[in-house]
Amino acid sequence: MEKIAHLIKNSTSTVIFTGAGMSTESGLPDFRSKNRGLWGKFNPDELANVDALENNQEEFVNFYQFRLNEIQAYHPHDGHYTLAKWEKNGIIDGIITQNVDGFHHDAGNNNVMELHGTFRKFFCHHCKKEVERERFLEGQTNCSRCNGPIRPGIVLFGEMLPEDTFLKAEELTIHSEVFIVLGSSLTVTPANMFPILAKEHGATLIIVNREETPMDPYADYIINDQSVKEFLLKLDRYISA
Ligand SMILES: [Zn+2]
Repeated sequence: MEKIAHLIKNSTSTVIFTGAGMSTESGLPDFRSKNRGLWGKFNPDELANVDALENNQEEFVNFYQFRLNEIQAYHPHDGHYTLAKWEKNGIIDGIITQNVDGFHHDAGNNNVMELHGTFRKFFCHHCKKEVERERFLEGQTNCSRCNGPIRPGIVLFGEMLPEDTFLKAEELTIHSEVFIVLGSSLTVTPANMFPILAKEHGATLIIVNREETPMDPYADYIINDQSVKEFLLKLDRYISA
């Protein structure tokens, strides 16, 4: 831990990459876990796509109202707040995330690249006019301007990842000296290419995840005996010392 703190203190660019494990520590159920619990009544494979938005809007809306309520029931944890403090203090350069819950923004981070979009924003699928997410929860399902269906700002199945965000994340990764993965199994492509890209450009790669990941052979440090939150709080004490 002391070594990692030393690396970060002396790094000109440290980049954080977060996955589902970051959010599940807030209590939020994992979208990809086999045990989807409350999700039993919905089938995301059938609903999280543009076809459902256009042809099965009622169920699409029910599903995403459910998802949004779920997200709003949970909050960032101390690990998120540690990362926000680190951004403010110039210890990290930015966060690349696979998460769509917006917790990094809620905690106070500004430089966040949300590879799969975000539930913070809702908009009209046709004319892109933004709608406050509270309106969607209250039952506004169509655009006041063009009557198009309202959708969350997340990437639906079959859609491209947001290109600008992706390029920015790539740029940040290439120039990182320390690259830290927090709570990602690194199995989803193309998100899992970031640790390799960092490594190829000379970064020290640190992976913090409960389970093994396919990228472990490339990592300089693997931490799997503590939660992401525990890791961040402990590291923060070393960095602040
Ligand atoms: Zn519209």
